[in-house]
Parts: sequence; C-alpha cells; structure tokens
Amino acid sequence: MNLYNMQDIKPLLARHGFHFSKSLGQNFLIASWVPEETVAAANLDERSGVLEIGPGIGALTRPLAQAAGKVVSVELDRTLLPVLRETLAGCANTRVIHGDILKTDLAVLVDEHFADLRPVVVANLPYNITTPVLTHLVDSGLFERITVMVQKEVALRITASAGSSHYGAFSVYAAYYTEPTFCFDVPPDCFVPRPKVDSAVITLAVRKTPPVSTDPVAIFQVIKAAFAQRRKTLVNCLCSAFPGASKEMLAGILIGLGHDSRIRGETLDLQAFAQLTDGLLDAGIIRR
Ligand code: SAM
Repeated sequence: MNLYNMQDIKPLLARHGFHFSKSLGQNFLIASWVPEETVAAANLDERSGVLEIGPGIGALTRPLAQAAGKVVSVELDRTLLPVLRETLAGCANTRVIHGDILKTDLAVLVDEHFADLRPVVVANLPYNITTPVLTHLVDSGLFERITVMVQKEVALRITASAGSSHYGAFSVYAAYYTEPTFCFDVPPDCFVPRPKVDSAVITLAVRKTPPVSTDPVAIFQVIKAAFAQRRKTLVNCLCSAFPGASKEMLAGILIGLGHDSRIRGETLDLQAFAQLTDGLLDAGIIRR
C-alpha cells in the first residue's frame, strides 16, 4: 500500500471509519520526500531506538523502521490503532502504544524498549502541543537527538540567534539544553488535510552538559524577566522582576559587562545571559 497516494489512503481510512481531528493536529504526510529527508536528518542506524510521537497512519513510521533498530510510536487517537496494525504489518521492529505523550513516563518507556539502543526522537508533531512536548522530551534528558517537524514559525523561533526578530525565551532555552539546527522547509501541499501554516524540520542535538556554568535556576529567572515585556529595556524588565534592585544598580551591572545600559533583552545570547546572571548573583540581587 502506498501511504503517500490518496487513492490508497482514502479507502484505508474509510474502511476503518476514521475522520480527521483538528484538535489532535492530524495533518498526515502525503509527500514521500519529506519522511525520507526527515529520516536522513535524524542520522539513524541499527543501534537507534526511535520514539515517534503520533504515527498517524504510519507515513513516517515505515521509513523509520527501515533505518533504525526499533521504533516505538505513541498514538493518542484510538481509531488509528487498527489502521496502523494494517499499515505496519510488514515492519517487525515497530511497536505502537496507545497513549498521550505528555502523560507518558519516558524513563519507563526507554527502559522497557530501548535497553541496548541509543534513544532518539523523530516525529511530525501535533502542532498544538509542540512546546510542552519538546520541554517534556528535553527535560527528560533521555534522548541524544530530537528530530521533529513543527510549524515553521516555531522552527525559526527555536533556531533563532540573538537580535533576530524570531529570538525569544524559547530560543535561549533551546540553546541552553541543545544545539538546534534548521533542516528544511515543508510546504502545506505535503499534507492531507492541508494545514494553514508552513512547516519545517529541525534537529536538536541534546547537550550532555549546558555550555554555560552559571546557576541553572537563576539563569531562567533572568531569561523569563528579560522577555516578559519586550518593548521595555532590559533594566526596566529586571527592575520589575527583582524589585530589590535599583535601576542605577542594574545599569551599572550591564555597563560593567560591556553593554549599553539601554539594551533590550533580545540582544543577549546565552553567554551574555549567563554573565548577567552571575553579575546579579554576585550583587545579591538574586539569591542562590
Ligand atoms: N506521523 C504522521 C504523519 O506524519 O503523517 C501523523 C502526524 S500528525 C501531524 C500528529 C499525530 O499525533 C496524529 O496522529 C495525532 O493523532 C497524534 N497525537 C495528537 N496528540 C497526541 C498526543 N498527546 N500524544 C500522542 N499522539 C498524539
């Protein structure tokens, strides 16, 4: 069965009484080059244990199974399970689990399924839960590489550099825990139904240790404060977040670090946020 051909997909879905759900972010791939390039970007081999989120009808699962040692796919929509039994019948190294990825105990899953394999994630994500899924995956510390299709806007935000229009708190979070790469664009006509937004594939190479050595709780307090009010200067943002500090004190710390006192938070990269955090800790403005 050709999972990229509507003439094969339509009768398959009709036979199983499947209807697309918008709230589950169900836009299925119908362009074979997209799974092929996604698998290539994921850099898989027979030692890879792939966690896939939302297999749909298996358009990405099948090429993943060819490239990896094992694929475990977590699918929330129960009505897709009999479809997947049919489409993945020839793929002995796949396993479908019915469940919500956000409620899945990832450590247990990895332990049970990927004992002798290198755990990685490859998925065409349901876009409405992109941020909680990515933080769930990254915070788990279990996966060395995460290759995902997301809304293009989100891909640009995650991979943005300091000072660019897409740069925000999530860009700094991504840079702290991972090395993000923008891989390629995916236009709406690659899916059924066609989404209203453009898509893109990114990879996140998860770091073993953060690239900066400042206090891990404090730096995220500073990042959150810096992006809380984008139109304000960094001094004003920090003043609102840390009321014990005067504007003069904060401006002095910024100048001491070689910045203009009127800069905005979005001009600072991860290193600069780490230096600022150390400055605020040393001055007693943030307590450890
Ligand atoms: N991988 C398929 C493809 O590329 O054609 C389908 C991708 S579709 C964008 C997202 C898939 O995630 C759907 O199959 C949907 O049912 C599933 N899904 C949505 N929310 C989920 C959740 N919380 N946990 C697991 N799967 C979910």
